[in-house]
Amino acid sequence: MYIDSHCHLDHLDLEPYGGSLDAALDSARQAGVSGFLLIGIDSHRFDELLAIESAYPDVWLSIGKHPLDEKLEQPAPQLAKQAAHPSVVAVGETGLDYHYAPDQRQEQLDSFREHLNIAAQVNKPVIVHSRAAKQDTLDLIGEYQTRVRGVLHCFTEDLDMAMQAVELGYYISLSGIVTFRNADALREVAAAVPADRLLIETDSPWLAPVPHRGRKNEPKYLPDVARVVAEQREMSPRQLADLTRANFFDLFALAGAGESNP
Ligand SMILES: [Zn+2]
Ligand SMILES: [Zn+2]
Repeated sequence: MYIDSHCHLDHLDLEPYGGSLDAALDSARQAGVSGFLLIGIDSHRFDELLAIESAYPDVWLSIGKHPLDEKLEQPAPQLAKQAAHPSVVAVGETGLDYHYAPDQRQEQLDSFREHLNIAAQVNKPVIVHSRAAKQDTLDLIGEYQTRVRGVLHCFTEDLDMAMQAVELGYYISLSGIVTFRNADALREVAAAVPADRLLIETDSPWLAPVPHRGRKNEPKYLPDVARVVAEQREMSPRQLADLTRANFFDLFALAGAGESNP
């Protein structure tokens, strides 16, 4: 059974499920996805996110401020408190996106640093978004190397960066982008990441994998990501599921604490 290491469950398109998150999760479970890390990026709706997390034993919660948040420059006074909540297993997503917001570099760096400080404080891993921001991302996570580890989610940078991040204690999570026709370089990354540092995700509702492109993404499409990654690593989808599941609980140890059968 797979674990979706990064999904925005509160942003899913639930229309095909009559508005029911319950039904959407069930359909993912039937497709072989049995764990979901809800990436909370709306800390003003923290109570709502907590309610989702506490309704399902196979849903865990992370909280942060997305680097493309329109109000990134405003501090999130509640963030440190929310990150310390016992139901929160990680901090983020945070990070740097110079592809979509090159003019917000300083705001993004400040926010990323704030998240790293909080992660160090609460002793939880950090979830990092990095797009066209290789060197700055490496510099910052390097600065916190002894205090914070985490994951580079929806990885799209190059193999050299993946390997440097691994050296710094990070995991690499691959999304549906690895299934795209023009993603040969990323498929090389999928083959080369050390086995104990690999994760998979949907990043739903965005970035639906082949053959669902153009539709809203959802956790039940994770097996389509997994199939391509498994192929690259010359292993069965089943083996990949076991591997990435074990890695997930290694990194997100607090999620594993509530798991009866890790
Ligand atoms: Zn992201
Ligand atoms: Zn995300």
